[in-house]
Amino acid sequence: DFVDFVKMFDRIINRFEMSKSKNVEFIRELPHTPIYLEIDTDKITQVIDNIISNALKYSPDGGSIHFKLNLSEDEVVVEIKDTGMGIPPKNLDHIFDRFYRVDKARARSMGGTGLGLAISKEMINAHGGRIWAESVEGKGTSVFFTLPNNADEDGEWE
Ligand code: ATP
Ligand code: MG
Repeated sequence: DFVDFVKMFDRIINRFEMSKSKNVEFIRELPHTPIYLEIDTDKITQVIDNIISNALKYSPDGGSIHFKLNLSEDEVVVEIKDTGMGIPPKNLDHIFDRFYRVDKARARSMGGTGLGLAISKEMINAHGGRIWAESVEGKGTSVFFTLPNNADEDGEWE
């Protein structure tokens, strides 16, 4: 599908903002002009859903989630940053592995299977992008992903 990714991202954020049950503030830093991308919208929606669900699930009441979208010459960089419990450095490389969860006690109380980020990684890789996380334990986590910017300014193919 050929879509305005800014609008798509904004609508997904709206859906979570309307249905959230926690007191978590949503902060958007999105461009004011469209970014047209050729992507599988269902799959990329699933990726964004997974990342936002995690940010909400692993954040306490009173936290915030920052949504950022930056365009460089050849790719779009998405950042979803939370003020939650964070992830210890030794676990950070593994969170994209299938069935990996940071600690069993935490995992039991939080629900889920540990597949969300593994599936997200497959989908982003299939689009020619990258996905990674940065985190400070006790302070919060940022999950980043990129999508190749495959159209020029006129929306024509290069
Ligand atoms: P599922 O997504 O299948 O319901 P899950 O959320 O446990 O289950 P992933 O989304 O793959 O699985 O995440 C893997 C693990 O990484 C999580 O169990 C959690 O320990 C950790 N994690 C992911 N996102 C965050 C975050 N924003 N803050 C803190 N920990 C996180
Ligand atoms: Mg998850």
